[in-house]
Amino acid sequence: MNIHEYQAKHLLAGFGVAVPRGGVAYTAPEAAQIAKDLAKDMQGDPVWVVKAQIHAGGRGKGGGVKVVKSVEEVKETADQILGMQLITHQTGPEGKEVKRVYIEEGCDIARELYLSMLIDRATSRITIMASTEGGMDIEEVAATTPEKIIMEVIDPAIGIQGYHARNVAFALGLEGKQVGSAVKLIMGVYAAFNALDASLLEINPLVVTGDGQVQALDAKMNFDDNALFRQKAIAELRDEDEEDPSELEAQRHELNYIKLDGNIGCMVNGAGLAMSTMDIIKLHGGDPANFLDVGGGATRERVTTAFKLIMSDPNVKGILVNIFGGIMRCDVIAEGVVAAAREISLSVPLVVRLEGTNVELGKKILAESGLKIVSADDLGDAAEKVVQAVKEAA
Ligand code: ADP
Ligand code: MG
Repeated sequence: MNIHEYQAKHLLAGFGVAVPRGGVAYTAPEAAQIAKDLAKDMQGDPVWVVKAQIHAGGRGKGGGVKVVKSVEEVKETADQILGMQLITHQTGPEGKEVKRVYIEEGCDIARELYLSMLIDRATSRITIMASTEGGMDIEEVAATTPEKIIMEVIDPAIGIQGYHARNVAFALGLEGKQVGSAVKLIMGVYAAFNALDASLLEINPLVVTGDGQVQALDAKMNFDDNALFRQKAIAELRDEDEEDPSELEAQRHELNYIKLDGNIGCMVNGAGLAMSTMDIIKLHGGDPANFLDVGGGATRERVTTAFKLIMSDPNVKGILVNIFGGIMRCDVIAEGVVAAAREISLSVPLVVRLEGTNVELGKKILAESGLKIVSADDLGDAAEKVVQAVKEAA
């Protein structure tokens, strides 16, 4: 699960991480009020930053982060950003509608650095990644100048120690009082990561201010969905506006569904089989419209919901049902497929491959349903048939 920048900053501040002061607004007048309140404690000429809150990075380049110098300008800018369809390299070409803006005090930036923490699957440990190349895409830094990425691996039995944080601070070229400020921040970020069951935490940029403070100027946090049952406060930060409606619907029915860009809908049981089904569709020249694992113990109702979910995607031009009945019985799947196909009066080709428990009964149900169903013998055969059927229908 993802959260917004302002929410991440609020959480991090609770762990002693230095962040600029700010407030979230849903309307332009609210934004102006926040700007006025912030100005009370500003020294010198006031500067604010109006930041679009969407679950995607690259907002700055897309026109979603604006530096302004008067309350009137804060109001105008908020008015302009709220409701805009913000397009960044992470939103896709259709962009995302901005419904909240964060009004933050302007920061006097001396240097922009990069800091992140993630769970490294290879070592099963939290790894700190840092780089002097702040504000840049870390993927690009990793690809072109991998030597500029600093890594520090934390042993979970010991947890983070001062020297881990100092290693990072020195490798970033920090000196004098900046080191102490960075160490405090890094220790705080780790504590938040650990306590809140985060799976990814990225601060880009991490900045050194003109007076030598180290601050998080941006914050992205991602949480382990499997830990949300014990992170109630985090779960409440979910912004359903930012999520794909069909993925939300899937979650409500405990279906593992991820929408993709292709046109062949897939209904499969088991994540491994779902992955290989997608692969084999690709191998035969097709493109999967989704990943969908209906799980081991799916009921007829759940299969029906899954089927409707697949069909709610207008890109879907054909469906491949690929089930290996172990715990799952093929007749239950067949009943679900037939019920759903009737209910939505299925109009695209449907290829079904069943194998395993009660396979004969399952095939019989499909055959007697009167529906136009192409049955397949194995995975390769099924993929070939569905790709072919979609081509013919086009
Ligand atoms: P994104 O990564 O989505 O583009 P950021 O929060 O990283 O959004 O903001 C983009 C850039 O805007 C930053 O790299 C920084 O240069 C500038 N910026 C962001 N917040 C502030 C701030 N409070 N004060 C000054 N500059 C800021
Ligand atoms: Mg950023």
